[in-house]
Amino acid sequence: MGRVVFVLLDGLAAATARPCMGYMQSLVDAGTARYTELTAELPPLSRPIYATLLSGKRPTESGITHNDAPCPCPEPHIFSRAQAAGLKTAAAAYHWMSELCNAHPFEPARDRHTDNPALPIAHGHFYCTDAYPDDELFHDAASLQLRHSPHLLLVHSMGIDNAGHLYGAESREYRTATRRADGLLARWLPRWVEAGYAVLVISDHGMNADGNHNDASDACRRVPLWLVGEAWNSSPLPQDQTQIADLVCTALGIA
Ligand SMILES: [Zn+2]
Repeated sequence: MGRVVFVLLDGLAAATARPCMGYMQSLVDAGTARYTELTAELPPLSRPIYATLLSGKRPTESGITHNDAPCPCPEPHIFSRAQAAGLKTAAAAYHWMSELCNAHPFEPARDRHTDNPALPIAHGHFYCTDAYPDDELFHDAASLQLRHSPHLLLVHSMGIDNAGHLYGAESREYRTATRRADGLLARWLPRWVEAGYAVLVISDHGMNADGNHNDASDACRRVPLWLVGEAWNSSPLPQDQTQIADLVCTALGIA
């Protein structure tokens, strides 16, 4: 069985990723990562696209077309598929991931720290604050990796999206949050590769200069994708966010 770290950098537009993700570019230059860009599904909002990335279904197919949609992610999704194959799953992620895959509504006292192999995401640290620091989020993920050695680990940061909403995509703050995430990947990604993981880094949607991402512009829709590790080499580069779930399952050996 393969092992995958799925990094979701929320709200990272490709136009900012290109100049500001220097570490990830160095992996592409060295031939250890492949890079492409995808056009996000519509509407380019978080919860609908989380469901797309997890299940392969477009928002119009999943029925999750707005951020307040109370429904679970349609199954099968990558966590239910991994669970059904007997793989160990974990996530350090925004609490909507817990709502989509484990239990709705999110109950902080019960769900903030999850350890329940009966759930699709068996081990989790889920946060509710959009300003939750990315470095602490990566520490949460590193702790899950060390303690549980999961086959599938989701690492979902919100710092870039938060800076974009506060200051817009043309701001120093948005670019700085992006460079910061790149620096966190420079710190943690080599350890995951060393531990035998294939790593996928993607964004759900972009960000525009007005500080939102709810229209059909390239700024809101164009997102980056990096694939790090040989486990991806048997698959062609995806053209579409609906292909990510199957790509992850192929790398896990459960497609
Ligand atoms: Zn957002």
